[in-house]
Amino acid sequence: LKDRKLIVHIIPFENRRQILVTHDATENDRIEMMRRDFIANASHELRTPLTVINGFLEIAQTQPDLDQTIRMSHLKLMIEQGQRMQNLVEDMLTLTRLESIDYPVRPEHVNIHNLLDQIKQEADALSGGRHEISLMIDGPDIEGSTDELRSAFSNLVSNAVRYTPAGGRIDIKWKNTEAGPQFSVKDSGIGIRAEHIARLTERFYRVDKSRSRETQGTGLGLAIVKHVLLRHGAVLAIESQPEAGSTFIVRFDKNSTDGDMVRALEN
Ligand code: ADP
Repeated sequence: LKDRKLIVHIIPFENRRQILVTHDATENDRIEMMRRDFIANASHELRTPLTVINGFLEIAQTQPDLDQTIRMSHLKLMIEQGQRMQNLVEDMLTLTRLESIDYPVRPEHVNIHNLLDQIKQEADALSGGRHEISLMIDGPDIEGSTDELRSAFSNLVSNAVRYTPAGGRIDIKWKNTEAGPQFSVKDSGIGIRAEHIARLTERFYRVDKSRSRETQGTGLGLAIVKHVLLRHGAVLAIESQPEAGSTFIVRFDKNSTDGDMVRALEN
């Protein structure tokens, strides 16, 4: 009981006896702390781009005769920061929707070929030819929410592109295993040190904040992945080696308990 916070109510009862009612507030406190952290992080993330935009607007107002090229570069930076705020707000709305228990998955037939072809095209566009990206599909379609799975897979694939330097390789695979279908993205990127792996799906957890921001990251991508997988009864495994690359594996079966499996149900 050392780390728990118990609230004890003493209620007078007949004949001078009393009833003790205990109530464990540890979980409530934890949820309240997570809520406060989320609001603090989100506000901080929104404040930075807002400060940049406001700064440039003030320059535009006080220096109307500014050189045209400088003005254009300020506009470009403001558009980038506006985009960053939009990405963040959209990811926050997606997470909120996914977390709502009143909103269960409505399973439909997911056409894996169509879905992964689209994701591959997006990855090619994001990479702009700087990476070699392959797609291999050798497994059955599944039941689930196409929109949610698109969001999970595309987050994993765009991370692979964003955290892999130019010239690297990215292999996207859909295959069937004895336990069930499996999606994986393997990159030859910067990799992740072991101590970070278990925390990656926490909201706003980033190994390197500046690198994430440079590539338009919101810090919410893997939290979204975690929730989508949780809703589909799937689990995420992460294998990574610093400087060598990472593999993110999604297994669509509930019973697997591999070595460093990060269960979507945990954290
Ligand atoms: P972000 O928007 O910062 O990329 P995510 O939730 O998608 O947020 O990922 C959380 C963190 O996990 C990233 O900031 C990055 O440090 C790390 N990460 C995710 N995918 C990869 C990857 N493929 N290679 C290396 N690091 C990764």
